[in-house]
Amino acid sequence: MLSGRLAVVTGSNSGIGLGVAKELAKQGADVVINSFTDRPEDHALASEIASEFGVKARYIAADMSDASQCRQLIADAGAVDILVNNAGIQHVAPIEEFPTDLWDRIIAINMSSVFHTTAAAVGGMRTRGWGRIINIASAHGLTASPYKSAYVTAKHGVVGLTKTVALETAEDPITCNAICPGYVLTPLVEAQIPDTMAQYGMDRETVIREVLLQRQPSKQFATTQQIGGCTAFLCSPAADQITGTTLSVDGGWTAL
Ligand code: NAD
Repeated sequence: MLSGRLAVVTGSNSGIGLGVAKELAKQGADVVINSFTDRPEDHALASEIASEFGVKARYIAADMSDASQCRQLIADAGAVDILVNNAGIQHVAPIEEFPTDLWDRIIAINMSSVFHTTAAAVGGMRTRGWGRIINIASAHGLTASPYKSAYVTAKHGVVGLTKTVALETAEDPITCNAICPGYVLTPLVEAQIPDTMAQYGMDRETVIREVLLQRQPSKQFATTQQIGGCTAFLCSPAADQITGTTLSVDGGWTAL
């Protein structure tokens, strides 16, 4: 379905980004995966994707906290048809204790990078006459939780930017949408489990059910494959008239 297309997925040497890159490769797209590190294992991941799915795959190191590296990633990638803005980090603290440097970093990586990569990619999409921009926002782009001020702010910002870019590209064959996952069991979420177990004196299963999935009515994590499948759907002809909207993959969280 996507052969001949080139996809760039930011923050894709792990978790949701890697799942999305694999699903797009499975559909035939060539892929560029990315993170800020430049280790042999990062490049090996690209080789694995290339051999598993029979597509071209490259790893390009670029730090999404840096505006010029965001734009350089797009320039280095080539003719980008599909841009998946996925890189993200989290920090949890009450607002009066929230470190300013972490506020700035979360806003830069989770939100401003989406502006820079999109601004760099959209001109080429217009020229070539096709483009798909998919922003991995969050249920926290639509609702809030305490102690996640920077993350919630950044993800709401991504949803707003998604709508704006959709309107600016509405008459082009370009769409821009956001996927809003609830909890997905990735390294980002796994890292929160030990501290939460200690904080509440709970075992792992209780933390997962009573704390992490407390607001996810299905009581199940979404999977990276499901987020990848939704991304592929938004790149399919069935989604040609879907733009400027959010697709929740949250087990009913935002229906509450
Ligand atoms: P993860 O930690 O597994 O992946 C984050 C990715 O971003 C990694 O590949 C990491 O290397 C990369 N990254 C971090 N800082 C970067 C930087 N400065 N430059 C480039 N890349 C950088 O986490 P994940 O859960 O897969 O999260 C991926 C995205 O999905 C994030 O935007 C996150 O907010 C969003 N999300 C996750 C969940 C969840 O429950 N896991 C839910 C909703 C939204």
